[in-house]
Amino acid sequence: MNQKQIAIIGGGPAGLAAAELLSLSGHAVTVYDAMPTFARKFLLAGKSGLNITHSEDYISFATRFGSAASRLRPALDAFTPDDVRDWAAGLGTETFVGSSGRVFPKVMKASPLLRAWLRRLEAQGATLRSRHRWIGFADDGFVFETPEGRSIVHCDAALLALGGASWPRLGSDASWLPWLAEKGVEIDAFRPANCGFVVGWSQNFAERFAGEPVKSVTATSEASTLPGEFVITASGVEGSLVYAHAASLRDQLLSRGSAILTLDLAPGRTIERLARDLERQDAKSSFSNRLRKGAGLDGVKAALLRERAAERDRTDPQRLAGLIKALPIPVRQTRPIAEVISSAGGVRWDGIDEGYMLKALPGTFVAGEMLDWEAPTGGYLLTACLATGRAAARGIEAWLLR
Ligand SMILES: Cc1cc2nc3c(=O)[nH]c(=O)nc-3n(C[C@H](O)[C@H](O)[C@H](O)COP(=O)(O)OP(=O)(O)OC[C@H]3O[C@@H](n4cnc5c(N)ncnc54)[C@H](O)[C@@H]3O)c2cc1C
Repeated sequence: MNQKQIAIIGGGPAGLAAAELLSLSGHAVTVYDAMPTFARKFLLAGKSGLNITHSEDYISFATRFGSAASRLRPALDAFTPDDVRDWAAGLGTETFVGSSGRVFPKVMKASPLLRAWLRRLEAQGATLRSRHRWIGFADDGFVFETPEGRSIVHCDAALLALGGASWPRLGSDASWLPWLAEKGVEIDAFRPANCGFVVGWSQNFAERFAGEPVKSVTATSEASTLPGEFVITASGVEGSLVYAHAASLRDQLLSRGSAILTLDLAPGRTIERLARDLERQDAKSSFSNRLRKGAGLDGVKAALLRERAAERDRTDPQRLAGLIKALPIPVRQTRPIAEVISSAGGVRWDGIDEGYMLKALPGTFVAGEMLDWEAPTGGYLLTACLATGRAAARGIEAWLLR
């Protein structure tokens, strides 16, 4: 067989998924990564248990990718959440469904899975080259900086799987943006996704409550109303409920310069009942006592009200009940992209064909988070990275056979 040379640049989940299919087909696959070891972000994801996919019904699952859902659908159809679990099991990592429907490896970490995956790739003949940083294009190839100096890689096809722009110290630093832009590839600016926000608490509140979880609330943004929990930070808010609203809040901040997350601190009670119960409290007793006895609120929830409610709101049961049910938390800005879980933006879908090939650079394909899609936390990110890596591999095979 006439072996084709395929360069995969970026050894995260998307690049490794492509390498797995292409090496299985007998191609000469080399995976290059700038870092001393592969898939560092995947390993970091393992520190919080590695939420590898989600068990909700597949039709709902496939809608979690916003405006990119229809473009991602063929890749996801070909590598569904069940396939992700079977694939992990095939590498010796059994998974389980957590209480929220999220799927985790039973060992709650990524390293055994990654070790088995890299062993499989080498057994299939793939070559793994760490400390190989792609630094741009030469006339007839890709230029790398390596421990032995500069080298130019020539190949029959290449896959760029360079990740997004969050956590750059793990490798995905988006340094490739100008090189692709110069070649005519259209790219949407990277923006923080699944991010915390700066609120600007009083010093007192921040010192007392940073790190404190706010449980059993609902939060409303322009996009939706969702139940859940979040965490107070020194500068603002973070955590799953905030991440679920992050895209909507971020886009409002970008378009209007302001955005509000509205909290219901007592989702189980109606405003009428709260007002009635607060009315019964002795007006002379402290704000904390009235809240605790009249609304069952104390700790961080009471502190949030104290932080946000004006004096006249605190003393008027009707107004206070209104605030308990709809406490506006204006957010000022997103946390910096370097510290958030994932990024939105990247190579535009218009710029690639159905096989994930860059229209501006025939023979060069893209996959993973460097493409323009975003999704909430819950295993959606890794599933789509694996699925697009595999879809790009099929695109490469079809293109090589053309
Ligand atoms: C703290 C944290 C926790 C997370 N937890 C989860 C989770 O539980 N579930 C989930 O679904 N997702 C999670 N994610 C997101 C998930 O890890 C990413 O979406 C996923 O790793 C992206 O895969 P990728 O292959 O596209 O890119 P990456 O994993 O970023 O890999 C890109 C690779 O390209 C390499 N590279 C970049 N530039 C160059 C260059 N110029 N030359 C050579 N190599 C280069 C990088 O070194 C890197 O290895 C988490 C992310 C973070 C930060």
